[in-house]
Amino acid sequence: MTIEIAAKPQDAHTPSDLLARVARIATQVARVHAEDVDRKARFPTEAIEALKSEGMLGALVPSSLGGPGVPFAQVAAMCEVLGQACSATAMVFAMHQIQVACLVRHGMESPALRDYMRELVERQWLIASVTSEVGVGGEMRTSVTSVVREGERFTLEKDATTISYGAQADDLLVTARSAPDAAASDQVLVLLRKGDFTLERKGEWDTLGMRGTCSPPFKVTSRGDARQILPVPFAEIASHTMVPVSHVVWASLWLGIAAGAVSRARAFVRQQARSRPGSVPPTAVRLAELSSLLQSMRSSVHDVAVEADRLMGSGDADALSSISFALRMNNLKVSASQQVVDIVHRALLICGIQGYKNDSPFSLGRPLRDAHSAALMVGNDRILATNASMLLVLKDD
Ligand SMILES: Cc1cc2nc3c(=O)[nH]c(=O)nc-3n(C[C@H](O)[C@H](O)[C@H](O)COP(=O)(O)OP(=O)(O)OC[C@H]3O[C@@H](n4cnc5c(N)ncnc54)[C@H](O)[C@@H]3O)c2cc1C
Repeated sequence: MTIEIAAKPQDAHTPSDLLARVARIATQVARVHAEDVDRKARFPTEAIEALKSEGMLGALVPSSLGGPGVPFAQVAAMCEVLGQACSATAMVFAMHQIQVACLVRHGMESPALRDYMRELVERQWLIASVTSEVGVGGEMRTSVTSVVREGERFTLEKDATTISYGAQADDLLVTARSAPDAAASDQVLVLLRKGDFTLERKGEWDTLGMRGTCSPPFKVTSRGDARQILPVPFAEIASHTMVPVSHVVWASLWLGIAAGAVSRARAFVRQQARSRPGSVPPTAVRLAELSSLLQSMRSSVHDVAVEADRLMGSGDADALSSISFALRMNNLKVSASQQVVDIVHRALLICGIQGYKNDSPFSLGRPLRDAHSAALMVGNDRILATNASMLLVLKDD
């Protein structure tokens, strides 16, 4: 599916033009199918195909490999606009971009991975993430399974608790111990190519929210070329890229969900005002309060996105490995995941029964259900426990 975009030829590839294209897909495609995606817990095929047809799955790939090299903060802005329309589309897009960021930032020295990124731009491969595993829950920095190398080849099996869009993805990025005798935290990140792996579905994905991410448990069985193992320890990939990028793109799409809910509340209050000309509806005060909460969420998400973009662009390994950077990224995740629920809930209180009904134009059931996934996607208590340990050793700035 191709979306008609009224772009000027001279700015066809500027980041702001690409953002405008994503915004158009959000309103013309993702929003149109969002209710059906949620109701049927089905993959948001239309929106992801539209994003592919505009080349957005390769947005982060640098121009040296044929991509548009969109700044990371701009990709976060894309997640925000998609989040306003369809949380599932935004989450699929965000999770894919996290995988691409890991490849772009840690795979450039590998000719095989550079070839893969060129192909990704051309073919718009969709990449899913396999960090979760039976036996370790959401502890991303621990693996039970390991890569088994045999000369130039490897084999890898993993029992994953959750793989979003596993059945729809072309390729996978999987964490595993670097060898059968390696410690649980001595991990690598491995690219599995379509045709090199099979997925055995081990359960269902019938959830409260984020239903269209289609994230059931799978057993992954794979083999591949050892050059598909990223040449950097996963510890570094996680702290320098995967965690900060995840927290920023997730927070951005949660901001989108919150903004979408506030705009429904605003439309509701305006409708009330129109029905009683000359009077200010009592809900207008609640809307004013909500608007200030949204503004503070927006400021904090945008500030951290720009800061993360700057630090990741600087290549300052010490800063990226620092406790203060890790705390800042974790704090963003915890606070944004709480703010989104609070904001959508307050929007529901403004809209009243019209927000509670599923068949009303002011319905807030879907965003409220989707928002509740935010605190679980890596449990907030798990993150706070990590922060607590870091705070004990943090020296004052
Ligand atoms: C919408 C969605 C999509 C997802 N997609 C993927 C995907 O594509 N790929 C993937 O690999 N995973 C995915 N996940 C899984 C996710 O990354 C986590 O692994 C999973 O949500 C954590 O599962 P859990 O709550 O059972 O486990 P745990 O993290 O073990 O948490 C269980 C409970 O224990 C608490 N807890 C855990 N550790 C501590 C601690 N140290 N201190 C205090 N409390 C603690 C938690 O807060 C929680 O209450 C997805 C999850 C969601 C919600």
